[in-house]
Amino acid sequence: MSQEYRVKVAKFGGSSVASSWQFRKVRDIVAADPARRFVVVSAVGKRDKHDVKVTDLLYLVNAHLHYHVSCDDLFGTIGVRLSEIARELGISYPISQEFGLFRERAKTGCYTEEFIVSRGEYFTARMMAEFLDMPFVDAADAVVFNHDGTLNKERTGERLRKAAQDCAGRFVMPGFYGATEDGQIKLFDRGGSDISGSVVARCLGADLYENWTDVSGFLTADPRIVDDPLPIPHVTYAELRELSYMGASVLHEDAVFPVKEAGIPLVIKNTNRPDDAGTVISAADDAESRQIAGVTGRRGFVAVRTTHARSVPVSSALCRVLAVVERFRVDVERVSTGLGSCTLLFEADAVKECLYPLVAAIEREAGPESLEVVKDLALVSTVGRALPDRPELSGRLFDALGRAGIDVPFASRNPEEISVTVGVQEASFEDAIRAIYAAFVS
Ligand code: ASP
Repeated sequence: MSQEYRVKVAKFGGSSVASSWQFRKVRDIVAADPARRFVVVSAVGKRDKHDVKVTDLLYLVNAHLHYHVSCDDLFGTIGVRLSEIARELGISYPISQEFGLFRERAKTGCYTEEFIVSRGEYFTARMMAEFLDMPFVDAADAVVFNHDGTLNKERTGERLRKAAQDCAGRFVMPGFYGATEDGQIKLFDRGGSDISGSVVARCLGADLYENWTDVSGFLTADPRIVDDPLPIPHVTYAELRELSYMGASVLHEDAVFPVKEAGIPLVIKNTNRPDDAGTVISAADDAESRQIAGVTGRRGFVAVRTTHARSVPVSSALCRVLAVVERFRVDVERVSTGLGSCTLLFEADAVKECLYPLVAAIEREAGPESLEVVKDLALVSTVGRALPDRPELSGRLFDALGRAGIDVPFASRNPEEISVTVGVQEASFEDAIRAIYAAFVS
């Protein structure tokens, strides 16, 4: 893939910069391809699953400062993690002094939460810039936020292009934050360095946005459920949306928009296995695909099913039921109607406090002939852009579930028809995923 691209933006997530060892991997990856001219980094993250991210520690620091509780040990932990990396790599940036200054000033209460939290990315990028021998660009000078916290795309574009020019077309920039024109630091959502990378790719007209993390892209199924699931080589944006919504989380959802608008493909790559192909995300729906892209799902749903007298049109029955739901201010996950019946599916958490008052109100105000609550449901989505054109695939899906003896009390197809979602009892959730995976992938 490397030769075809002139300009790549490479964003490295927290685990990719969690230690001096990981910094070295980043250097090898960047050095391996001269097109990797713009590097965006997250803050030093977890070295293993028991570790703590620097960003989480900084949030804690802020909370301690806010309540005037001593947090010297937290500052100490962060300082040690940062200076250990610098020492092990022979970095001359005076991280201990700089971090010490930050700590002393932070204790006076002069910093906002956003400023404190952004220092994770800032210090990580300072060290990375020196280690890669690339110019450092502070996101506070390049990523412009409006006061309402939204990104000022125009000004950001101008500033980033100017920064690229001033730095002779190469730089390292911290992700996750930017600043308003008057210098107030603002953050994207958690995991937002993915968005920073995407914004840089878009503004600098990159040919490819590489998102380096600790997995080799999206997998066709959850590895906790299916042994060694195959990776997904390519997904379209629409497939990605379905997969992410139903549970597959590798990338911040909003990271897709800037590159999608500009038609820049995005690839998820594994810093620990750089030769793995990863998953390419692009608009190209003619790219080679398997029968399905993947199968995913979530537990924790509850259905409310009503039946109505024949004389009541389904639309009126549905309106009455939804009017009650709206008043309770809960969102409906899916709706399906049949002859004289309506089924509403809710996230169990969303109705946990109000399920029975809601049901009572529906009974009172919508006057159904019967009402049934079905708890402990899970949704399983089979996603694939081939689904609309190949009716035999849906047939095979239901056949696989039938053969596995799994009842499907609920089924729906998304509007673009690239996914089929079935509701199953939570007890059958994993079996359903395995059955579908076996029918299509393995
Ligand atoms: N460091 C930030 C976080 O932990 C942003 C990021 O990693 O993308 O959420």
